[in-house]
Amino acid sequence: MGKESYEEVFEALKKLLSDREEKATAAAKVGQISAELRTASSDSKPFDPVERIKNGFIYFKTEKFDKNPDLYRELAKGQCPKFMVFACSDSRVSPSHVLDFQPGEAFMVRNIANLVPPFDKVRYAGVGSAVEYAVLHLKVENIVVIGHSACGGIEGLMSSPYDGTTSSYFIEDWVKIAMPAKCKVLAEHGSSSFEEQCRYCEKEAVNVSLANLLSYPFVRDGLVKKTLALKGGYYDFVKGTFELWGLEFGLSPPLHV
Ligand SMILES: [Zn+2]
Repeated sequence: MGKESYEEVFEALKKLLSDREEKATAAAKVGQISAELRTASSDSKPFDPVERIKNGFIYFKTEKFDKNPDLYRELAKGQCPKFMVFACSDSRVSPSHVLDFQPGEAFMVRNIANLVPPFDKVRYAGVGSAVEYAVLHLKVENIVVIGHSACGGIEGLMSSPYDGTTSSYFIEDWVKIAMPAKCKVLAEHGSSSFEEQCRYCEKEAVNVSLANLLSYPFVRDGLVKKTLALKGGYYDFVKGTFELWGLEFGLSPPLHV
């Protein structure tokens, strides 16, 4: 984009902003009054994101970093994680919390619906480079794909009609990676409720991701040489349970915790 077109964009933006100025002023006033009401109705201060981040780091520094000098001295030299983990971006499912992974233990990718796309250097270079780095350079021994209950990404996949009308920039296209899971669930559980179908799909989508991992040549090599294992997991934050299964897709009994 040349200089001129940038200026055109800025001009258009300025006009848009001036048109909205009155509305924005009104919205700011409403926001201010709401904040005052919230403050008045409770003793707590309004949420301050900078304060939250500062306090979070101070807690980590004093309670963890300063109390584990050996660990952090080792980690400063390099990382040697045994796990690569795919988890959903959902704020409730952080593997560091759910599986108590400590710094240096798990190389992580988090995205909408914890999906691993098939090997594709053009469309999915971000995920591909993470898998390549984890397997070929860090030499992780396990790749774990963890699904979870009430996943908004999977619900979006299950509810979208995919009739050509799209209401999202990226999400619909991204979650389509798990379309084989949706098809399987609709074929096998067509009479189940929508909620039940979503729960089935959350697990089947993990299996689709495990299958997609096999399209990466260095993952296949690792499996053949037995230096790498693939595992599926499912965290249910409603029931407070965790399931783990191997690449055999359910042939061995899954571990329920
Ligand atoms: Zn999710």
